[in-house]
Amino acid sequence: MSPTDVTGVPSAVEILQRLIRIDTSNPPGNERECALWLKSFLDDHGVANQILHPPEAPHRTSVVARVAGRGEAPPLLLQGHMDVVSVHGQRWSHEPFSGDIADGCVWGRGAVDMKGGLTMMLHALISAQRSEQPPPGDLILAAVADEELGGRQGAAYLVTEHPHIFESVKHAFGEIGGFTVHIRGQRFYPIMVAEKHICRIRVTFLGDGGHGSQIHSDTAMSRAARALRRMERRHPPFKIVDATRAMLEGMMGALGAREAVALRMALNPATTGMALAMMGDKVAKMLEPMFRDTISPTIISGGQQENAIPSEVQVLLDCRLLPGSSQSDIVRQVMSLVGDNAEIYVERYEDGPPTVDMTLMPYLADLIETADPGSKAIPYMVAGGTDAKWFHHIGIDTYGFTPMRLPADLDLMALFHAADERIPIDALNFGTALMHKAIYNYRG
Ligand SMILES: [Zn+2]
Repeated sequence: MSPTDVTGVPSAVEILQRLIRIDTSNPPGNERECALWLKSFLDDHGVANQILHPPEAPHRTSVVARVAGRGEAPPLLLQGHMDVVSVHGQRWSHEPFSGDIADGCVWGRGAVDMKGGLTMMLHALISAQRSEQPPPGDLILAAVADEELGGRQGAAYLVTEHPHIFESVKHAFGEIGGFTVHIRGQRFYPIMVAEKHICRIRVTFLGDGGHGSQIHSDTAMSRAARALRRMERRHPPFKIVDATRAMLEGMMGALGAREAVALRMALNPATTGMALAMMGDKVAKMLEPMFRDTISPTIISGGQQENAIPSEVQVLLDCRLLPGSSQSDIVRQVMSLVGDNAEIYVERYEDGPPTVDMTLMPYLADLIETADPGSKAIPYMVAGGTDAKWFHHIGIDTYGFTPMRLPADLDLMALFHAADERIPIDALNFGTALMHKAIYNYRG
């Protein structure tokens, strides 16, 4: 009997439908209903669990559950978020909180980000509890609140206030990874091993104010405009970090000679730009953030009165840094772009790990490549951020591992946060089976 067939455990499809039907849109991120449902579901299956929330935010509830192992491996963390992004302003062909089944898929907000992945984890956890054979090490499930808005009330709260729960954990499985990406007829499975870290910088451009009826040059506004233009043309330099190198080297062996030449060129910062241009817009757009720190203006404000020239204009920059890049690196870059007459203030800086752990990569690659023969698993760095950063604070390395075998015509990344989010039932079952295997063969 395979551990996927443990009797009395609802199917992955049923679990996912239940999760989708609880609206956990963040904001406001009222995860409590979902957490309470999870608690009773875990109770029903005899899994020890507790619900936790910051004292000032009783509705931002997370659930932590634990299944005892045989003591032959360190405890393994399965971490997933319950909250989802809003569906506001989107047109859906199926009601987004229905969990409808159509065209071989389960539809709804969170189907891929990430109630689908959470379902795989839950199914594996409950099956392990009910199975006659315990897993090699303890299994810990952290179903958390607030990931979509930064995780402060979810994962960050757990690791700061309840770190003892995660004692001795070295590795976690989390979101973003293990799904098929089809490139030139080859099936790749990126597994997230690293993410960029965030620096938010406020730039205040200064200039002379005055009356709107007069002729002005070199105002705060025109200085901001020139700087914004420069940001579009001049980018931080290319850097090759370990995770990117490992990803490209993995791809090289699996693609044709022509593609391999471009990938090799990309690994030399002097020719990265040329290589990206050779790869075409779609691939370049996906890969470029892995080669450089990025600076993106996101909010601009200035001027209050329609007939007065403002003497200050503020621009907020959303900067994303590669592992190993520091706050002073990015501040230097920003200074070179904004010119004189501008003040720089770092509003938020999240330190990231300087190097990337990839020790579990061969293990996960082997599982995936065995489950989908002829495919290739590669390490991957996400341009955005996930809860992995919070768990890293207590020494846990997260691998993006919610496996899904997908057909070539389904672009999973395009479904994240989008209308008509859905997951093929085959992919959900593929991931659930592989999750079981991954936890039962894990040895640390
Ligand atoms: Zn997510």
